[in-house]
Amino acid sequence: MIIVMKPGAPVQEREKIKKGLEKQGFQINEIIGTQMAILGIIGDTSVLDMHAFQVNEWVEKVMRVQEPFKRANRAFHPDDSIIDVSGVKIGGRKLQVIAGPCSVENHDQIISVAKSVKLGGASLLRGGAFKPRTSPYSFQGLGMPGLDLLKEARAATGLPIVTEIMSTDDIDRFVEDVDMIQVGARNMQNFALLKALGKTRKPILLKRGLAATVEEWIMSAEYIMAGGNDNVVLCERGIRTFEQYTRNTLDLSAICAAKKMSHLPVLVDPSHASGLWWMVEPMAKAAVAAGADGLIIEVHNDPENALCDGAQSLKPERFAHLMGELKGIAQIVGRDL
Ligand code: PEP
Ligand code: MN
Repeated sequence: MIIVMKPGAPVQEREKIKKGLEKQGFQINEIIGTQMAILGIIGDTSVLDMHAFQVNEWVEKVMRVQEPFKRANRAFHPDDSIIDVSGVKIGGRKLQVIAGPCSVENHDQIISVAKSVKLGGASLLRGGAFKPRTSPYSFQGLGMPGLDLLKEARAATGLPIVTEIMSTDDIDRFVEDVDMIQVGARNMQNFALLKALGKTRKPILLKRGLAATVEEWIMSAEYIMAGGNDNVVLCERGIRTFEQYTRNTLDLSAICAAKKMSHLPVLVDPSHASGLWWMVEPMAKAAVAAGADGLIIEVHNDPENALCDGAQSLKPERFAHLMGELKGIAQIVGRDL
């Protein structure tokens, strides 16, 4: 971190800042110019609040050199992390595809979709039991009975299950029952939830918030990792922009940015990003071409009658077709599918 003092700043002001930092164990390199002085802070500055220095009227500006995150930072962990989800490795050469319905609706639906996505080549099954709906009058998910149905689908197919958690109250049950816990976009900055998940060792699928910067998203991963849980997978799912045609705007550049800044694997959700079933295939291809480590895709056996997100859900045969198409793209970018 660098602190630039204002021209003419009294020496005592500079010394005051310097002493405070030295007391905290930082080393300070000073550059004294004819007009201005610069303090270079050496040490783990992720614990410092850069805005706090601006309280001093003699501070001109404060700049970070090192990002405010450590455990998620590629600078301290140059190799790609590989997260093991009950034997399925996310982040290696092989792309992993999570597929399934938006919500678990009933026994026949989840078993049917699970079997068809397995046939299509998915390596993990998704399905929401607790749904974060904009309206309180919309289908809220089956809750705990939905988790039981997911377990039945796992038993029927062997696919590990991924499902969203909404409350810290449910953590014990999720740890016991599911293979990967999803933190939805709306909860990306639910810090109490992130901290609690940091105490577990479960793989976490951390979706990017609707209006979160890439740095904020990685800081949320840092919350989980700071608690000791390094098993975090990032997921770009589209962000809010002025564009209304699509449900969200898929930020493909976020894949590249997140992978440059962090060693964590990055998945892409083309379903929530576009909101349109016919756009899922081209967006999925673009994500793989841009370097995503895999995808999470909504698939439904009867999208017209889905209780949630039917318009963005692929029918099983379209999903199988997409998986075939993706093989070629994967090969071009040096990945396996
Ligand atoms: C979901 O995956 O079902 C979901 C609600 O996604 P998001 O949190 O990205 O909106
Ligand atoms: Mn959905």
